[in-house]
Parts: sequence; structure tokens; C-alpha cells
Amino acid sequence: MASPSSPLEHGSEWRIGADGLFVDAAQEEMFIRAEWESLGPRVRQIGLYGALAFLTATFTDLAVLGATWVYWSLLLARFGVLGWGLTLARLGKARRVDNVRRVAALLLGFELSILVLFLLVVLSYGGSADYHSITALALIFAGYAYVPILRREALWLGGLFTALFAVVVWTTLHFDAKYVSIAVVLFGFANVAGWQIAVSLSRSMRLAWLDRRRLQHEALAAKEARRQAEQSENNLERLFDATPMPLVLARLADGRVLRFNAAVKTLIDPGNRLSDAIFTTDFYADPAQRALLLARLQTQGALRQVEVRLKTVEGQPVEVLVSMQQVRFAGEDCVITGMVEISAQKNLEHQLRALAYTDPLTGLQNRRGFFAAVEHAMREAPAGGLGPCVMLIDLDHFKQINDRYGHPVGDEVLVEFAQVVLALLRDGDVFARLGGEEFCILLPHARSAQALEIAERMREFVAAHPFQTSAGVVRLSLSLGIAGCDAPIQSIDSVLSMADQAMYRAKQCGRNRSEMYCA
Ligand code: GH3
Ligand code: MG
Ligand code: MG
Repeated sequence: MASPSSPLEHGSEWRIGADGLFVDAAQEEMFIRAEWESLGPRVRQIGLYGALAFLTATFTDLAVLGATWVYWSLLLARFGVLGWGLTLARLGKARRVDNVRRVAALLLGFELSILVLFLLVVLSYGGSADYHSITALALIFAGYAYVPILRREALWLGGLFTALFAVVVWTTLHFDAKYVSIAVVLFGFANVAGWQIAVSLSRSMRLAWLDRRRLQHEALAAKEARRQAEQSENNLERLFDATPMPLVLARLADGRVLRFNAAVKTLIDPGNRLSDAIFTTDFYADPAQRALLLARLQTQGALRQVEVRLKTVEGQPVEVLVSMQQVRFAGEDCVITGMVEISAQKNLEHQLRALAYTDPLTGLQNRRGFFAAVEHAMREAPAGGLGPCVMLIDLDHFKQINDRYGHPVGDEVLVEFAQVVLALLRDGDVFARLGGEEFCILLPHARSAQALEIAERMREFVAAHPFQTSAGVVRLSLSLGIAGCDAPIQSIDSVLSMADQAMYRAKQCGRNRSEMYCA
């Protein structure tokens, strides 16, 4: 079989002529080579049986001619034909054909030699034309029907032979006038029918071969297309798997994960415990967030860089930036999700936020932290309800402590003061150092009377408390201003300024006392 990449494949069209052979000689040769598996045995049979049949006629020669020199000459010629036939048989037996043109020429020559020898036999036998005509007709049919047409010249052998036979009969044999009209019809019929048989045989062999070739090429092309599709699918899968960014492909309807890459395993399943059937719902720290994201996805078609908190198979939180895109995959609505882990950044952000909200000396919240806590408390308070209480604390004559014991001892007092007060507070109270020796407490759950009570208890406690410092025991008193209770508060600034006014009054009234703001 010719290789599919042969130049003939693409270069020229396959055209079959009126003689049933390919018009293009190179195509014809390619056909013979390709079909040698079926053509070879035919050539072999023709060579073998043709020569043997021709040789057996030597008995007729002997009966008609006797052992004359003509008989011996014919016998020699018949052996010559046998040799020729055996050569053909040997070539036809070969698994492949080396020289196509030579085989075709040998076959044509073999046929021609039999026909010529037959005419010589007729000449040497003499007698009536009727007798020889039967053999001549058989030879004509055999020539057309059994010889595979490997050369277009072979098609003319029957006609040529008929003409030569007519000449021999006309010039040397006895023939009846009646015989002529019958002979013309019979020989004419034999040639016309033989021609048609030969042409249609040749044509159908070549058409069938072209059909088989086409099917083979189509099968090859389909196989190649399948291979390429498989390869590109494999490539895609490998790319998907090798992408360093975690990627998940999941069904939109139920969140069933259809594909996920190695980076997802590293992110979500470091312990390699994932089962086969997994759902994206299993990995959201808050399942409601998934529902929210999907709702947004369905209106927008895609989501970019949304912060999401996931959890690993072991339940550890993982912070990620998620981008989502709706896609069709294997006939289903799906979502492809890309993630970037930001846990480290989020931790840092938390730390920075904590630092920004913390007083480094006492570890309490600073002014910023306090403001955030008050805002939060105001948001949480029921609309129109009571606001939280704010208690402003200023340490009395603190400058004197610094002056007497030194600034570091003043710091020690500030730190211990913070611890002492913290111990007196309840959960939910917010204690902050607003700056210097000024502190503030947010009491979200206290009424004014309670707040005043708390303030007084604190003041008395601190006044009685011996602050242990590196310079010995230090005593301290507080001035406290309370505001914001029992009325909805407008803003932090206003409530702080009220507390400040109350605290100022406490200072003016001699320090070491608590004052409630009154308008
Ligand atoms: P009073 O409030 O009773 O009127 O008197 P005071 O001396 O406390 O008032 P003032 O506001 O004049 O002084 C506050 C002092 O607090 C001044 C400053 O030296 C001191 N101070 C502020 N911040 C720090 C600090 O971080 N460490 C120490 N050791 N002292 C501080
Ligand atoms: Mg002060
Ligand atoms: Mg002070």
C-alpha cells in the first residue's frame, strides 16, 4: 500500500480512462504494486495453466502431424511458451512486484506468443476453418476475461488476433461461404463482449481499490483526529494540573467538584485525605458566603478577586482571593474558580491592625482602638435605645510623680494602673489609654447609676492601692467624668466631650472624685 504521504495523494486526481485503466501511468503502477496480493496469483495462474494447457496440445500435434520436423519445431515452441509461463508464475508468486513494467510486458508477450503460435499451428494443420474457429474463439475470450489488464495494449490483442486469423483462413484454409456470415457475427460478438468484460473488470478492480484506499485514509484521518483530540485533552489536563494557582472546576447546580489541580490539594488537603466525591460547599468556612458568591456570579457571569475564608479538609481556616467564571463543560453549567492564598497577608493585616489599635506601653487599646470599639457599640445598640456609658479617667498630679521618681517610674505606675483597672472591669467593657495619663472606659451594659457606682468603686480602690514601683510604693488618685448614659448618643466626639466636661468639674472640685455629666 502506498504511504498516505505519497505526492500522488494530493497532487493529481485519480482518473480511469475508457480502457478501464488509470490514465496516469504512475498511478497505474501504484495500483499494481498495491494490489499485487490479488494480481500476483492471477499472473501466476495464467502463466502456469496457460503454458500447461498449451503444452498438452502437443498430443493433438502428434496425432495430426505425426513425428515430422514441423511437429518437433512446434514442440520446441510449446516448451518455449512453457518456460515463459513458468517465469510468469514465479514472478506472480513473489510477495511483491519489483519491476511492474517488466511483468506487464512479459504478460503481454506471453499472450501474444500463444496467439502467434496458434496461428502457426493452424497453418501447419491446414484443413477446414470451422475446426480452428472454436479454439480461436476460446482464445479470444480467455485473452479478454482471464488476463488482468496490466497494459492497455493487451486490449487490442483480441482484435489483432481476429484479423490475423481471418487472413490465415482466407488465404490458406478451406471455408464455406455460409461460414463467413456466422464467423463475422461470432468473432464480432466475442470481441465486443470481451472488450466490455475486460474494461469493466479493470475499471471495477480499480474503483474497488480506490474505495478501499479512501476508507483506509478516512479511518487513518479519524484515528489521527482522535489521537490529536486525546493529546490536546491530555495537554490541557496537564496544564490544568501544573498551574501553580489553585484551580477548581465544579458543577454549578450542586457544587460537585469535577476537576481540581495539584495546587488545590496543597491548599485544601495537605494531609491527602480527599475522597472522590467532593463538593465546594464542604470548603467554605461560611456556607452562606458561597450562596452569596453564586448569586453574584449568576448576575455578573464572573467574579474577580473576592476575599473568601475557606477551610481545609482538617477544618483549618484558609484565606483566599477568589476569581470565578461561569463556563459550559461536558454539557453542564459549571464554575471555574481560581484562588490565591492570602492567609499570610491576612495575618499580617490582623497584626498591623492590632498594633495600630494598641497602646504599646500598657497593652490597652489606644485612642483609635477605642473609637472603633465605640463605633461598634453604637452600631450594635438598638435604634432609638440607650447609648453606652463613657467614663473618662485622668490621673491626678501625675506630673509630680514623674518629677519626684522619674519618667520610668511614672511608666511603671501607668502599666500597673492599667492592670488594676482591667481586673475591676467586666467582659464587654472597653478600656483604653487615650494618651498621656488619660484613660477611658466604655461600659456598654451599664446605666448611669451603675456607672457612677463603678467609677466610685474604682476611684476608692485605686486611692487605696499601693503601686509597687522600682522606687518604692507610689500612691495615686483619679478624677473621673461620666457621660452618655440613659440617652441616645449622637457621636463619639460629643460623648467624649461631655465626659471631658464632667472630668474637668471633678478636677475643679478638688480631684480624687467622680462626676456625672449634666447638660
Ligand atoms: P492634673 O491632671 O491633676 O491636673 O495634673 P497632671 O500633672 O496630671 O496634669 P498634666 O496634664 O499637666 O500632666 C500630665 C503629665 O503626664 C505630663 C507628662 O509628663 C505625664 N505623662 C504623659 N505621658 C506620659 C508617659 O507616657 N509616661 C510618663 N511617665 N509620664 C507621662
Ligand atoms: Mg491629664
Ligand atoms: Mg492628670
